[in-house]
Amino acid sequence: MRLSKAFVPTLKETPSDAAIPSHQLMLRAGLMRQLTAGVYAYLPLGYKAMLKAMQIIREEMDAIGGQEFHLPALNPEALWMQTGRRNVPNFILSVKERDLVLAPTHEEVIAWIGANHIQSYKDLPQIWYQIQTKFRNEPRPRSGVLRGRQFIMKDSYSLDRTWEELDKSYDAHAEAYRNIFSRCGLKFFVVGASSGAMGGTGSQEFMIESPFGEDTVALCDHCGYAANVEVATSAVPSVGRSAESAMPKEIHTPNVKTIDELASFLKTDHRQLAKSRVYLHDGNPVLVLMMGNDQVNESKLIAAVGGGEVFAAGEEKLVELTGADAGSIGPIGFKGRIIADNRLKDSNNLVSGANKNDFHIINIDLKRDAKVENYFDLRQVEDKEPCASCGKEIRVAHAIELGHIFKLGTKYSEALNMRFLDEQGQSHPVVMGSYGIGVERIVACHIEQSHDENGIAWGKALAPYACHLITVNMNSKEAVLHANQIYQK
Ligand SMILES: [Zn+2]
Repeated sequence: MRLSKAFVPTLKETPSDAAIPSHQLMLRAGLMRQLTAGVYAYLPLGYKAMLKAMQIIREEMDAIGGQEFHLPALNPEALWMQTGRRNVPNFILSVKERDLVLAPTHEEVIAWIGANHIQSYKDLPQIWYQIQTKFRNEPRPRSGVLRGRQFIMKDSYSLDRTWEELDKSYDAHAEAYRNIFSRCGLKFFVVGASSGAMGGTGSQEFMIESPFGEDTVALCDHCGYAANVEVATSAVPSVGRSAESAMPKEIHTPNVKTIDELASFLKTDHRQLAKSRVYLHDGNPVLVLMMGNDQVNESKLIAAVGGGEVFAAGEEKLVELTGADAGSIGPIGFKGRIIADNRLKDSNNLVSGANKNDFHIINIDLKRDAKVENYFDLRQVEDKEPCASCGKEIRVAHAIELGHIFKLGTKYSEALNMRFLDEQGQSHPVVMGSYGIGVERIVACHIEQSHDENGIAWGKALAPYACHLITVNMNSKEAVLHANQIYQK
């Protein structure tokens, strides 16, 4: 391609709605244009970079025995009703006139194909993948291609006989993903994650660190520990138990609303203060006890109560349930489940609200005075806490997700009846794994990691063109001729 013929519509000014470097530079360098919110047209240079990423993905997927499919973006709505995912909030765009939906992922279609064609243990294992356009009913598209309504994904699905065999397919994908992101020149890390709407039981995310990332992770630069804050832990000390357990006593604490005010009023440190937060779990009240100003991590809380809907109780509900405002709530006399963070396990001589405005109770012994049903890790880790693996300081940072791998299990196989017969003729559901990579994200993340004041600094792996041939002296016939010969070659 001659630059004089190339369609590369660059922009001098940074578009005002582009807040992050990859979004700004993909627009300015003429890689793409936004058609409407969250929907982009990829122009020749941008698509060339994406095709290079796709080629690397194909090679690594083929290397682990993957077979490439091309599944339809349009799916019958009825298929998604069978797995209960039709109405997951902000998930699926629909084509109402025809009872069709635009697929955000393809577990359903894969399980439909498998249900029709997998019969015996001899048909397994399988790894099926595709690189295809996906749609998401994203309410607030932003950050350029990082959060759009239409995007290109590599999605793959492993079909296995047992969980042990799923482990092998999962590990093969983890290895393929490391190879893909390394070959694309990305500085990435891998974190354990919670699986959210995918419904899996084991998962890992491949991420890059970026101040513009929407995920928050805990990282240890000393031992390499990395975890999404939804599941991250740290080695903060627990409160423990003192030898003497004094008797509980109600005290007047006028105008004390916060943990900091309570600490200075009582001249004590946060370790003896048990903060109470009240949640509604599927409509039932749950009181959660945390040490001092430790924050409740809602993902951990949802896992602790066994899933379902969990909301913080509003002001009016708090008064109805406890008789007090948020600053004066406590476990003694609370009607409902009480759970507590591991940090407070079996502690005594604690201070908490008296369920009466402007009063607290001191000397609470959680073993003696409160009906704590169970202790869980419920707290959100904080920057500079000691690492759970090596004890040195962790960092809490933002990150962008490149890819995600899940051990799905049998959820979709059971919903869509994808079963096989074992050697003894017994029928079992196929054990599935699901694995995704955002193709645009590879390019955007490369740009986030590799740009300067002059623009994108392409690495060799994703550069739209490998070289730019320049005829230095256009006045020399010989130079022009020679340059043309090199160009033709
Ligand atoms: Zn560490």
